[in-house]
Amino acid sequence: MTPSVRATLADLGTEHSDLLVIGGGITGAGIARDAALRGFRVALAEARDFGSGTSSRSSRLIHGGLRYLEHGHVHLVLEALRERAVLRRLAPHLVQPLSFVLPFFQSDRVPGWKARLGLTLYDFLAGWGNVRRHQTLGKRALLELEPLLREPGLTGGAVYYDAQCDDARLTLAVVRAAAEAGARVANYTRVTSLLFEGDRVVGARLRDELSGTEAEHRCRLVVNASGPWGDVIRRLEDPAAAPLLRLTKGSHLMVPQARIGNRHAIIFTSPLDRRVMFILPWEQWTYIGTTDTDDAGDPDAVSADQSDLIYLLRSANSIYPGARLTEDDVVASWAGLRPLLAADPHSSPAQIPREHRIVKGSRGMLTIAGGKLTTFRVMARDLVDRAARELGAHRADGRALSRSRPLPGGEAAVTETFRPQGLELGLSDSTVSHLLKRYGGETPALFALCRQRAELRRPLHPDHPSIAAQVIFARQREFACTEDDVLVRRIHLSTETRDHGAAARETVSTLLAEALDARSG
Ligand code: FAD
Repeated sequence: MTPSVRATLADLGTEHSDLLVIGGGITGAGIARDAALRGFRVALAEARDFGSGTSSRSSRLIHGGLRYLEHGHVHLVLEALRERAVLRRLAPHLVQPLSFVLPFFQSDRVPGWKARLGLTLYDFLAGWGNVRRHQTLGKRALLELEPLLREPGLTGGAVYYDAQCDDARLTLAVVRAAAEAGARVANYTRVTSLLFEGDRVVGARLRDELSGTEAEHRCRLVVNASGPWGDVIRRLEDPAAAPLLRLTKGSHLMVPQARIGNRHAIIFTSPLDRRVMFILPWEQWTYIGTTDTDDAGDPDAVSADQSDLIYLLRSANSIYPGARLTEDDVVASWAGLRPLLAADPHSSPAQIPREHRIVKGSRGMLTIAGGKLTTFRVMARDLVDRAARELGAHRADGRALSRSRPLPGGEAAVTETFRPQGLELGLSDSTVSHLLKRYGGETPALFALCRQRAELRRPLHPDHPSIAAQVIFARQREFACTEDDVLVRRIHLSTETRDHGAAARETVSTLLAEALDARSG
């Protein structure tokens, strides 16, 4: 079971670790889990909440990346498709199959025959782990599937399969798995500087962002997994360190599904700049993304601006002309920075490969840069292999565990058997579905809370299926410290309600405070 509290600065200040991992996004979480499973003593320090950086601002796809085939990155697609199959096994509640419609238009940059060839290769690379083989369809059959698609110029299309996940909850699940394996994990714990002995990095100075207290943590190896902040941390080691990253901003917006009318996930080319884009279903919502523009701004202040929204709305309207979406339809938006490897400065952002690289700094810190949500386990494996070599410790034994040990909630392949328990408690069918999808095999723990205290069955918000028990669970098991941790990343009320969860804020605040009192009492 996951330790229920984040590690404190007092813990981290007195204990030494083999690895101190900076950054609690998917990359740092994956490294902490892999290293702890191999028996290393691990500390993970996250400056804000786990997953609050890029890892909760993605397109939420666990995918091979069909479009990367166009650029010839076959090995990256193969690797990501293998990971898609592994993650569907480790966390079946969070990583779920998704059918995509790919319409073919006369004006497409990629002709239909080439797209069909690409889909055949995509299925072939997925091998035994494939979700399902693609099918090609004529124009009429495609319009039966997606009746509101633009008809002029449409020649037919295809249906193919990938997977979708709740990125913030996946990150959280990996952090919890790391803690279960013995890692000390601390959110709201910022690395403010590094500690040196001679020419070696030997630890870091940490600040608890909630209390303001500070401590020093000593370790044998520091790992910089801070995503878009990677170059900032590298400069703590060496102010003259050359930049490794090229940051590109990606924005999404969310509208009610009924306003656009898509029935599936759609992949299409924006007529505005011929970039590949997605229209993706999310319960009764649809989100549209993404932009891909160079951004040298502050990673702490990234958000979707008006030009991003206009681009996304115009692109979606071009393919669903009847929707006539406007800014008034936008329920929520989010943006993140892709920590891509700085390669050829003349290439367009979309052409930069999503591979990763490990770099050793001048005073011994390892930085990992690049990658994707989908391939976090591969990144973690490569980093921990390298760390083991640096530490002169051969730890191959636990390597296979990362592939086979389920993430929290992923232990039960089938969760429908839990549904009657929830219905017996008087929860609505939509609330039970909501819980099963987010908590998988851990859903009975939420039912147990509801059984102990009937008031925890109450909805948190009039327009959302979430219930009060989730706040207690977030505090007790999921390291939630603030209202936004709950509203934004544990339950997503901020993006799934028109008032961004305002109607639930007071209840969340009261329940969080109560859970804290219970702990200290
Ligand atoms: P982050 O998640 O940003 O984590 C870095 C963490 O380091 C942050 O939480 C930050 O607070 C912390 N940190 C920074 N400074 C400090 C400090 N001093 N002390 C302690 N902690 C610190 N990939 C996919 O596979 N599928 C997709 O559909 C997909 N869509 C995407 C869409 C967009 C718009 C973007 C931007 C990316 C997308 N990606 C996708 C890529 C994927 O989201 C990222 O590669 C991944 O989330 C990066 O994770 P990370 O842990 O490296 O970085």
